[in-house]
Amino acid sequence: MGERSSGGIGWRKTVAVVGVPTVKLNSAEAALREFAPANAPKPKRPAELGIRLFAYLLKNKLRWRKRFPLVTMLEPLEACNLTCEGCGRIREYEPVLHRMLTLEECLRAVEASGAPIISVAGGEPTMYPHLPALLNELVRRKYFVYCCTNGILLERLLSKVPPSKYLCWVVHLDGMEERHDASVSRRGVFRTAMKAAKKALEQGYRVCSNTTLFKGSDPEDLHQLFALVTRMGFEGIMVTGGFDYGTVPNSEVFLTRQESIQVFQKVLADDEVRQFRFYNNPLYLDFLRGRRHYQCTAYSNPTYTILGWRKPCYPLADGHTQDIQELFQDEVWQRYGLGKDPRCANCTMHCGFESSTIYGALRNPLDMVRMAHGVVAKKSGVGAS
Ligand code: SF4
Ligand code: SF4
Repeated sequence: MGERSSGGIGWRKTVAVVGVPTVKLNSAEAALREFAPANAPKPKRPAELGIRLFAYLLKNKLRWRKRFPLVTMLEPLEACNLTCEGCGRIREYEPVLHRMLTLEECLRAVEASGAPIISVAGGEPTMYPHLPALLNELVRRKYFVYCCTNGILLERLLSKVPPSKYLCWVVHLDGMEERHDASVSRRGVFRTAMKAAKKALEQGYRVCSNTTLFKGSDPEDLHQLFALVTRMGFEGIMVTGGFDYGTVPNSEVFLTRQESIQVFQKVLADDEVRQFRFYNNPLYLDFLRGRRHYQCTAYSNPTYTILGWRKPCYPLADGHTQDIQELFQDEVWQRYGLGKDPRCANCTMHCGFESSTIYGALRNPLDMVRMAHGVVAKKSGVGAS
């Protein structure tokens, strides 16, 4: 019974009862009623994640490894059932959208990287026919797996991959219904994704959300979204800024660094950060708000695709390689990062900078305490996509 409001500020539900004037419920209230039950499950982030990550960091530091991965980004296919305006992948990989990695190739990439955390992305990974086998095998090997999805096909996956503390669904949500559907260029996606997320939470899965901010992102709308997913029992909210790295024709939608800082200062105002359950660590949230400065460490998130490892990073692919070690070489990082390549100037993505906050905290006890406090208080984690 939904209808689009003529005021253009959101979806409104009209409740008409004979003899009683029509009442319009605000879309945010309607969404809370529909998707956030009073007895919503309380999220429990596995303590093992923080312990394993810390042990892994320590092990690599003791081996004096200068650069090493924290999260393997695995893209088994680049095809998608959506055509979002801000998506580079479906455009960049257009000639090979029909191809996909085999299960064995996926597992070989994960082993070559050795990172304890795997982000399965794409394209839309739920379209990958071997996804249940892949996720079940990664969980069996005790990797912490984050499967990023637009949520359209999520519900049908739930019977094929049992809930586990090692598995988390990460649902792409760029705003409340009207804004999200506009962002993904299809009506109905928000509701489908939210229904699937609600079902997943009811069945005991871990669920996070992932929001990219673009030009025109509305802080009030995003606060409604964050309130909704927090009430639903999402484990955390991941945020990052969309920037122009040269593969999307309409670069008007992207934020410059200064615009990104301005919008994040509103979206991540101190009161909001206290109220909602962000998954990104507090140091990265400070970075997004322009309170901290870091150099990019995108080698922490090597990305494997049908053409090989993206070189140098998740957003940029000036080449691909089958040898992951090439991604860690000095020669690469002399050329990429802030102040080195003009395409990096506006990048604030978690794949490049959230790991910088973690590496930085290893050298600064106060930062380490702040980050550990965030993890212990279950208000932050490791941005995984
Ligand atoms: S859902 Fe993701 S992969 Fe698919 S078009 Fe949108 S941004 Fe690209
Ligand atoms: S700043 Fe880092 S993550 Fe961002 S585009 Fe440049 S190299 Fe890639």
